[in-house]
Amino acid sequence: MRIAIFTFLFLVLNFAGFSQNSILIKNVNVWNGTSNQLNKNVSVLIKNNLIAAISKNIAEPEETIVIDGKGQTLIPGLSDAHVHLSATMSDNETRNEAHWMYTSIRTAKAAENFLMLGFTTVRDLGGPVFGIKRGVDEGLIPGPRIYPSGAYISQTSGHGDFRGANEPSVALSGGQMTASDAALGWAFVVDGVPEVLKASRENLRQGATQLKVMAGGGISSDFDPIHSVQFTTEELEAAVQAAADWDTYVAVHIYEPKGAIRSLNAGVKCLDHGHLLNEEAIKLIKEKDAWLVPQAFWTDTPASFWAPGSDVIPDALNKKIKPVLEGTDTVFKLAKKYAINVGFGSDAYGDLGYETYALTEFTSRTKWYSPLEILKQATSENARLFSLSGKINPYTKGKLGVIEVGAYADLLIYDGNPLKNIEIVAHPEKYLKLIMKDGKVYKNKL
Ligand SMILES: [Zn+2]
Repeated sequence: MRIAIFTFLFLVLNFAGFSQNSILIKNVNVWNGTSNQLNKNVSVLIKNNLIAAISKNIAEPEETIVIDGKGQTLIPGLSDAHVHLSATMSDNETRNEAHWMYTSIRTAKAAENFLMLGFTTVRDLGGPVFGIKRGVDEGLIPGPRIYPSGAYISQTSGHGDFRGANEPSVALSGGQMTASDAALGWAFVVDGVPEVLKASRENLRQGATQLKVMAGGGISSDFDPIHSVQFTTEELEAAVQAAADWDTYVAVHIYEPKGAIRSLNAGVKCLDHGHLLNEEAIKLIKEKDAWLVPQAFWTDTPASFWAPGSDVIPDALNKKIKPVLEGTDTVFKLAKKYAINVGFGSDAYGDLGYETYALTEFTSRTKWYSPLEILKQATSENARLFSLSGKINPYTKGKLGVIEVGAYADLLIYDGNPLKNIEIVAHPEKYLKLIMKDGKVYKNKL
C-alpha cells in the first residue's frame, strides 16, 4: 500500500506537474542568470509561482514540500528565441495531407519536448501556435511559456510564400490558397502598405507578442534566392508602426546586409539568422541597440537535418545553404567584436525529436563564446529580448531568465556545473535532475 501511494505520488510529481503553495529547495549552488559565479550552498524558497527567498538559512514554512538539491547546480530555466513549434512535418504533409487537428497535437508534443529539455520559455517565430500557448498557460498541456508571432508576414514570392508552382495568387486570379496558409495562420502573403498593415493587425488581434516579417531570401522556400531583398522600406515601416502601436516590435528573417540595413532603418528591432551580415550591418545593429539571433548549430548538423531521410543535400538546396554556413563564423566574430545584443535561438524545427538540436546550439556556440556567455544569452539576455513586447508581454508578474526574489519560479537543477562544462546542458537525459516552470515540477530525479 505504502509503495502504491509512493508510486502514485511519484507519477503525480513527475508527469502531471505538481503545484504546492510552497516548495523549499535546500542545498544547491545557484547561478542567477547574470553573475559570473555560483552562490554556493543556499536554499531557494518558492511560493506559488514565484521565488520568495534565496538564502543560506531559510526556516521551513509549514506545509512545505522540501527537495534536497544534494549540492547540485540550480540555474534559471533556458529559453529559445527562435522556434517553430507547429512545423513538425514537411510542407506537403502539413498543407495537403495531415488533418489540422493532428498537426496541432504534434505541436503540443513539440512544446512538451522543449520543456523536458529544460526550455521553460520560447519565442515562436511563425506558425499557428496561439491555441497551444493558451493550453500551456491554462495548464492543460505541459510546455514552455510561449511568445507567439502567428502567421509569417511575407511578400508574394517571399520566404513565407509556400505555394507550389501551380497554385495561383489569390490577388491576381481569385484562386484560393490552401487552407493551411492564411486560414490556419501559417503565412500571410501580402503586398503593399495596406495589406501589410492588415496582416500585422490580424496577428496582433490573435495575440502575437511580436511580428515576424520575412525581409529576405530563405533556405526552405523555392522561389526566392538568398540574396533577394523582400518588402520595401514603406512596407517594413508599416509593420513596425502596427507593432509599435501595440507597444511591441518586429523581428525579421534575413541573411543579407542589404535587407538587414533596410529593416533596421525601418525600425525593426530583431534580426533573425543574419549569417551573411557585414561590418556595416553589425555596426548598425549596435547603433540601434537592436538584436541578432544567429544559428551556430547549422554548421554542425548532418545532411539529414536539411534533407530528411537522406545522406546528401540536393544541389538546389545546397546552393542556398552553403553561403549561409560559410558566413556563420564571420557573423559570430563580428557580433562578438562589436558586443551587440545576441539572443539564443536555434530555429530547430522538423520531425518530433528534432527539438534536441536546440541543445546542439549550446555546444556549437563554444567556438565563439564561453559557457557563461552562452548561458546568459539563453537566460537573462533572451529575457531582455522578450521584454521588447512591452505592454503586451504576457508574463509580467515576475522576471524571466533569472533566479532572484520575485522572479518566476522557472528553474533547473543539473548534476554538475554547466558554467564549467556546457555539455551538461546538452545532455539533459544524464544531467538534468529537476525541471520547474511556474512553480510546478515537471521532472524530479533528485
Ligand atoms: Zn525560423
